[in-house]
Order: sequence, then structure tokens, then C-alpha cells
Amino acid sequence: MTDKQSKQSSDSRQPFEIAGHQVMSGSSADIALPISKFSSGTPVTLDLRILHGRQDGPVIFVSGAVHGDEIIGTEIIRRVLSKLKPAKMAGTVIFAPVVNVFGFISHDRYLPDRRDLNRSFPGRAKGSLASQMAYIFRTEVIARCELGIDIHSAAQHRYNLPQIRIAPDVPHLQELALAFGAPAIIESPLRPGSMRAIAKEKGVNMLLLEAGEGLRVDEMSVRVGVSGVLRVMRHLRMITNKQLGHAPANPARSSRSTWVRAPRGGIFRPSKISGTKVHTGDKVAIVSDAMGDDPHTITAPIDGIIIGHRQLPIVNQGDALLHIAEVRSIDTVEERIGTITGSILDDVMLDDVMLDEDEVL
Ligand SMILES: [Zn+2]
Repeated sequence: MTDKQSKQSSDSRQPFEIAGHQVMSGSSADIALPISKFSSGTPVTLDLRILHGRQDGPVIFVSGAVHGDEIIGTEIIRRVLSKLKPAKMAGTVIFAPVVNVFGFISHDRYLPDRRDLNRSFPGRAKGSLASQMAYIFRTEVIARCELGIDIHSAAQHRYNLPQIRIAPDVPHLQELALAFGAPAIIESPLRPGSMRAIAKEKGVNMLLLEAGEGLRVDEMSVRVGVSGVLRVMRHLRMITNKQLGHAPANPARSSRSTWVRAPRGGIFRPSKISGTKVHTGDKVAIVSDAMGDDPHTITAPIDGIIIGHRQLPIVNQGDALLHIAEVRSIDTVEERIGTITGSILDDVMLDDVMLDEDEVL
């Protein structure tokens, strides 16, 4: 195809239609989908930004704060938006930085009816509030896409090592997860009622990023997320960003994990946290009473890598303390993760394209 032909075909790209709106090729638009009203009567909308590239390509979505207190996706989307220009893009991206509006403003995982939006798919137009929101997101966003990247963090007072979760045994998802370049890839079963489960049923591929802590924005997690979303877009030929580094090779990969729980109530003192490797029997934490008496030593039940840990030292018996993923080739995993997180930070420090305008100032 000559340049002239390619220009003609790109100029003739159809507008993107959503909820009665049209977004012209090479432009972006903000769409506010009506959801309901707050109890005060103020309208509640699901706010989307659509970037409709000039060239043909895949349609994908990127969502954050499906659990309202998991705000890291909102910040990742803000920074990704600052890097993209629809006039230079192929394909289309629907960004939904705050899906659970109610939980976001009340700093809560759930909706006001105590339902979990990520257990309410596929949703119904006349169902509960959670079910109605799931229905709107499914019909207006998921149904238009071939891939979604949904961004979560751990719950409040917990931290997750940045990790991509994908459905088991899907080679295309494994390829996209490797392109994303997070320190760990976890193949995990799909929960009934989750966005990932309904997307799979509809033939939409999903990457789920778990990174950082509820109600917090930590720089490493944000950078993993920003570079990961851009790398997946580059892998799909939606952007050609030469300054964006390559995904680090050999993330930790796992399909089985286990939680280590508190053997008693008291004060939790971890000796190993997320990103470190453990062998079966290694001491990982102590829980004692407030005076330091009656200490219970906790050991790792499997060989693996710690992918999540509790941040709050006050614990009840049975509380989940450390999340350990079983990994193959355990002996080199810690160095690999160190290299990946180090290279993510180095990459970003040295590479101007990854610097946010606030950081430059
Ligand atoms: Zn979540």
C-alpha cells in the first residue's frame, strides 16, 4: 500500500459509536453514561474517555476502581492518557478510570447495597444496583472490545506485588501477559460473576493487573501498570513507541498459591515480604502478644515467591498474612523479580517518555 492509499483508507475509518455518540477517527471524546442518582438526587454517571485512532486496529478497554477503594488503576489510566494521541494511534481504547463510582467516593470496595460489582456480572437491566452497573459496563464497554485490562490492587492494609492474572491455558493471554512485563504472571481460575468470567464467555480476552495497596498509589506499581498497558498496545500494533523499553524477560510464573494465616491474635512481624522467595520451612513471620510474649513462629508451607502481604500489624487469629505463589525454578526467581522491578524503575528514570509531567517538575 502506498502512503497515499494508506492515508485515504485511514481517513475513511468509520467513527466509533457508543451510547448514541460518535467519536471521529483520530480524536478523543468523553462520554458520561447515566447510571442512577445518588440518594441526594445528584446524577451518577460512568465516565469514559474514548481514544479512536486514525488507523484500523483492535478495540480494547482499560478499567480501574471496579472495587471502589482500589484506586491505583485510576492513576495508571491518568498517566497512560497523557502518553497517547489518537491521531497517531491504530485501533480504539475505552478508558474507564472509575467504574465503581459509589465505592470510589466512599473509599469502599463495595456498592452501597454491600454487593461486590466484580461478582455481579453479567448483570441485569432491572437487577440490584450492582447488577445494573455490571449490565451497563458489559453491554456498553465489554461487548465492544476484544481485549480488556482491568486494574486492581490488594485490599486496604494489604499489598500485592504487581502481577498479571490470566485465565489458565490460553496461549494468546500468556503472550499478552509476557508483553505487559509485570514481575509475576499468575494463571488463576475465573470466579463466577466476575468481569473476567463474563468476558471469557463473550470471547473477550482479559488481563487483570493486581498491584499495590487499597487506597494507596505506590510509584513502582503505577510504573509497572503504565509501561505494561503501553507495551500491550505496542504488541497489538496500536502504537509504535520506540522509547518504551522491552518487557523484562522471565517473570515468575505460577498457577497455585496459598495464604499463610495468623496462628493467634496479636502483633504480626514479618521477616519476609512481597517479592522475596521462600523455601518450605523458612521462617517468614512471628505473631506474639503486645508484650512480645508467647511468640508463634510462622514458616513457609511451600517453595515459592511472596506475592502479597498484610501491612497492618494488628491481627486476629486466622487473618491472612502472606500470600505465597508456587513457582518453578525457585532458585533464580528472587533475582529475576529484583531485576524486573529494578529495570522498571531504571527504565522509567532514564526514559523520558515514561516521565509524568508532575515528576519532571
Ligand atoms: Zn479488586
